[in-house]
Amino acid sequence: MKTISKRALILYAIILLFLAGCGLLFYNLVTNSSDWAMNRVNKHLYSSGSLATAGDVKDANGIVLATTQNGARAYNQSKNIRLSTLHTVGDNAGFIASGIQTSFKDELTGYTLVDGVYNLKRYGKGNDITLTINSNVCATAYKALGERKGTVAVMNYKTGELVCIVSTPTYDIMNKPDDILTDTTGKYDGIYMNRFFSGLYTPGSTFKVITAACAIENIPDIYTRTFECEGKIQIGEGYVICSGTHGEINFEKAMNKSCNCAFATIADELGSEKLTATAERLGFNTKNLIVSDKIKCAKSKLNLTESAPLDIGWAGIGQYTTLINPCQMLTMISAIANNGTAVSPYLVSEIKNPEGEVTFFEKTETLGEFFSPSVAQSLDNLLRSNVKNQYGDSYFKGMDMCGKTGTAEISDDEDAKPNALFVGYSNNEDMPFAIIVVVENTTSAIKSAVPIASAVMREVKTEYTN
Ligand SMILES: [Zn+2]
Repeated sequence: MKTISKRALILYAIILLFLAGCGLLFYNLVTNSSDWAMNRVNKHLYSSGSLATAGDVKDANGIVLATTQNGARAYNQSKNIRLSTLHTVGDNAGFIASGIQTSFKDELTGYTLVDGVYNLKRYGKGNDITLTINSNVCATAYKALGERKGTVAVMNYKTGELVCIVSTPTYDIMNKPDDILTDTTGKYDGIYMNRFFSGLYTPGSTFKVITAACAIENIPDIYTRTFECEGKIQIGEGYVICSGTHGEINFEKAMNKSCNCAFATIADELGSEKLTATAERLGFNTKNLIVSDKIKCAKSKLNLTESAPLDIGWAGIGQYTTLINPCQMLTMISAIANNGTAVSPYLVSEIKNPEGEVTFFEKTETLGEFFSPSVAQSLDNLLRSNVKNQYGDSYFKGMDMCGKTGTAEISDDEDAKPNALFVGYSNNEDMPFAIIVVVENTTSAIKSAVPIASAVMREVKTEYTN
């Protein structure tokens, strides 16, 4: 008896080991099989290390942005569309990590865990992906940015559809420059990065929207206060400098004129805890936005721990160590336009299998209430007042445009040029679109970012309204 039970025990141990081995194998299969099949040596998918056979990538109107012709990847015939959609579509060697051709390579090649690349061999192509972007709006945004580095994006603030994403510098995928690796002039800095998803920028005065939200929520008499601006103001141990000398102004005028003295005073009164609480509710420090389930955005940052009052004053006007991610900022400004409720931005609207059946389509998802409806309405009034009384409705005819500019100092060097930003949206029912513009190393926002926003929103109006 004793011998038999010993044998049984050994047998059980062997069975257990076998099952554990099976489990490990299955785990590895699930987690790594995509990479194994997608390995660049797999001749079915790649030719000379490049993605060759895959489905089409189309814009929202069905315009083909990338396809496969004669065993090689081919792109849209318009050079401006190729340049403006490069970072969204991605390259065919995976340098642009957030590009659709890299982040959705399984879908494009038709790879599945069960069938492997069987569908690809059977149909000679993978799934087709339709994006939310409008390539005409992208081309217009690219032309408006010109040679300058930066990003422009437009989102439907009711649905979350991203209708424009442009990041510069860019290059023509049909004629890639061969000096990208050897260049020392800096013209290709961050060329493989999509600045909209991965960039982090000093927000400058666009952050005053967040300081204003915090003030409306926490200072009951904010609208009857007056502020004194003599061009600079002492906060704690030092001074915050203003862009002008605005004299005695109220809250709305302080927003219109973007008065640093008023907003540094407000930030100092609010203090680090309240400012941080408002910013974190909007995603600062806490959340990476994930676009279309696969593209992870950089996280906006506000760090006021152990900050002196002067630092908090500078942070309240969007300087100090504060950094914003453009996609997160666009989501925030969209929430104001959408009565306080934020929607999740997305880029992929539909995936069709080789037989033409829709296997996936995106639905609008909410990220929750960023602002109460009444705070959103108050912010909306301030942002509308900015465009009407300061930037000029002539830039945005018939759009009921709301917005805020920012000219962010990024260096103590007096010769350094600032970054210019604009965030805003149209209040028209038939044009529910919000925009962000970031232009690096340029002039003031009113001179550089506002005209770009104007050109892009006019194109949006042409494309989306009658
Ligand atoms: Zn001022």
